[in-house]
Amino acid sequence: MKIAVVGTGYVGLVVGACFAETGNDVVCVDNNERKIRSLQRGRMSVFEPGLEELVRRNRLKGRLRFSTALGKAVRDAAVVFIAVGTPSDEDGSADVRHVLTAARAVAGAINGYTVIGLKSTVPVGTAERVSTLVGSETSIPFSVVSNPEFLKQGSAVEDFLRPDRVVIGTLDDDRASEVLRLLYAPFTRTGAPIAVMDCASAELSKYAANAMLATRVSFMNEVANVCERVGANVDDVRKVVASDQRIGPSFLFPGIGYGGSCFPKDVRALATTAREADYQFHILEAVESVNGSQKRRFFEKMQRVLGSLKGKHIAVWGLAFKPRTDDMREAPSVDLIEALLGAGARVTAYDPEARESARAIFGDRVTLAVRSYDAVKDSDALAIVTEWNEFREPNFGRVLELMRSPVVFDGRNLYETEHMESLGFSYYSIGR
Ligand code: NAD
Repeated sequence: MKIAVVGTGYVGLVVGACFAETGNDVVCVDNNERKIRSLQRGRMSVFEPGLEELVRRNRLKGRLRFSTALGKAVRDAAVVFIAVGTPSDEDGSADVRHVLTAARAVAGAINGYTVIGLKSTVPVGTAERVSTLVGSETSIPFSVVSNPEFLKQGSAVEDFLRPDRVVIGTLDDDRASEVLRLLYAPFTRTGAPIAVMDCASAELSKYAANAMLATRVSFMNEVANVCERVGANVDDVRKVVASDQRIGPSFLFPGIGYGGSCFPKDVRALATTAREADYQFHILEAVESVNGSQKRRFFEKMQRVLGSLKGKHIAVWGLAFKPRTDDMREAPSVDLIEALLGAGARVTAYDPEARESARAIFGDRVTLAVRSYDAVKDSDALAIVTEWNEFREPNFGRVLELMRSPVVFDGRNLYETEHMESLGFSYYSIGR
């Protein structure tokens, strides 16, 4: 099938490469010329495990191309996916401006029946809005389908190739859902369900899933905070909760709050959708506020222990909002580092993949170390913010030797308290 993907970011690039992998002829389009030029030269625009190899292989086979020429890519495509960003607007709602701009451009280019699949996470009503917009711009037949994406950064390729489910929302057009069914068939052979429903349900289901995951995180962070006050250990509590089959173990790890380009904005957007429908989504409002205070609490803990931060040298391990990505959008590290800098501290940070993202955010206000051990040299404290695997079993002897004072604030509970104390660290974690 000929496919165009409009928006070549974390989602668009993975979607395009994976559809090329199953033999389709894919053009990934973006209006960011630099991004497209670099992809055309074989340089990856984002870090995502397994993606570089997938892109390289499919480019070599001629099944995957990159372009800024939307019209040319869309013409003759049987399916056009829109995978542009939908950031938070000032009032918390999802800003669908890029989706509408892309849809208008697609409308001007199609020249035969085309399925327009909305991959971006969009509020209820957007598919209908896009359908009306496209219909007002062209007389060529088309069908808009809601096809929310559930991949996770850090395992995006794996997730797309082996989805838990595929969601297709239609505006009463069986032909369109059949086209998508065909396209997804190679990924659902293992039995993953393809759930076909109306567009509103498809659009809402994506927000509901993300909001549920964020709720688990905030819930467990609050449990951890109670643990700290009553002398309980959240590790033990978590294991008991997680072993209940009705609950399960995912997304129950306490930490310094969720971040990324999806949870924060999707929680806000769903709460806003509810408010606009005259319903106050109390739980989600709490989920967001708990997340904000969880980030602040970590900084306040550092302040309490270290006293004045003025002139102190703080090492930070982990900048990306989660491991296995270079993405720092709404990462807890950003809030923490801004607070540290604001309090007069000097920060040296290390992340295996997010150096460029960090440079774009902090410029030269933060020193970016090339190795984890370089970051801790002469530091007054180490803050662990992202649970990259390489932080799990470091050479503690070397860390002790390099630090000026052996104080560790672990925002991800990577180590055992007793072990750290026996090594000579002052060790502070979450809920223990
Ligand atoms: P992103 O910012 O990485 O990528 C979006 C891309 O769209 C950018 O490269 C941008 O230049 C391009 N773009 C914007 N307007 C355009 C236009 N008019 N024409 C062509 N290109 C245009 O965003 P992302 O993380 O890939 O997310 C995209 C969407 O997918 C969002 O709605 C997001 O909520 C959703 N989503 C993201 C994830 C994730 O893990 N990142 C997972 C599921 C769903």
